Amino acid sequence: ANAELRQLSTLDPLTNVYNRRYLDEMLAVECKRANRSGQNLALVLLDIDHFKPINDRYGHAVGDKCLRAVAEALAGVAKRPGDLLARYGGEEFVLVLPNTDEAQAARVAEEGRAAVAALALDHEGTPLPLTISAGIAARVPAGNDMANRLLRDADRALYKAKDEGRNRVVKASQLQPEDLSV
Ligand code: GH3
Ligand code: MG
Ligand code: MG
Repeated sequence: ANAELRQLSTLDPLTNVYNRRYLDEMLAVECKRANRSGQNLALVLLDIDHFKPINDRYGHAVGDKCLRAVAEALAGVAKRPGDLLARYGGEEFVLVLPNTDEAQAARVAEEGRAAVAALALDHEGTPLPLTISAGIAARVPAGNDMANRLLRDADRALYKAKDEGRNRVVKASQLQPEDLSV
């Protein structure tokens, strides 16, 4: 019963992936672990493109169906035992990939992007175009505030992916140096 309760408090009820609370806990743990072992930790921030119009046009039940489908597609690319997928907030997800460098994380993100683009959901015969944009940050965590710096860099890369037209993956290393955390 305790294990069941613990499960419930770590999962997002809508999508059944990990929730924000669990992500925050595990990200801190993984940062420390990667710091100790000197290994890369990669963080991928993924955000559904133009999701508001889907909710506005077809209602929240349809939006919720899309969120579940996107979560399932993303879960399919987080294959290694230590990989973690969480719902970060509304229509944003996070992948935490231990012992993974930026280029490897970009391949995982690209797989996720392609899987979502291939979903081909519909609402009463009307196609629901779904794409995601992703921002990636990876490093050997060191110093203070490691988790927040990873999140901030991934968020800046995500912003660039949106800015450049969406449905794409951008790495933090593609940003201007002054846009990155030191
Ligand atoms: P962008 O490409 O810039 O990300 O555009 P967007 O429309 O996805 O971004 P915006 O942040 O304006 O809208 C996010 C929308 O996500 C708002 C709301 O309609 C929807 N949303 C957030 N959480 C939920 C949820 O739990 N269920 C449903 N159905 N929709 C949600
Ligand atoms: Mg968003
Ligand atoms: Mg969005």
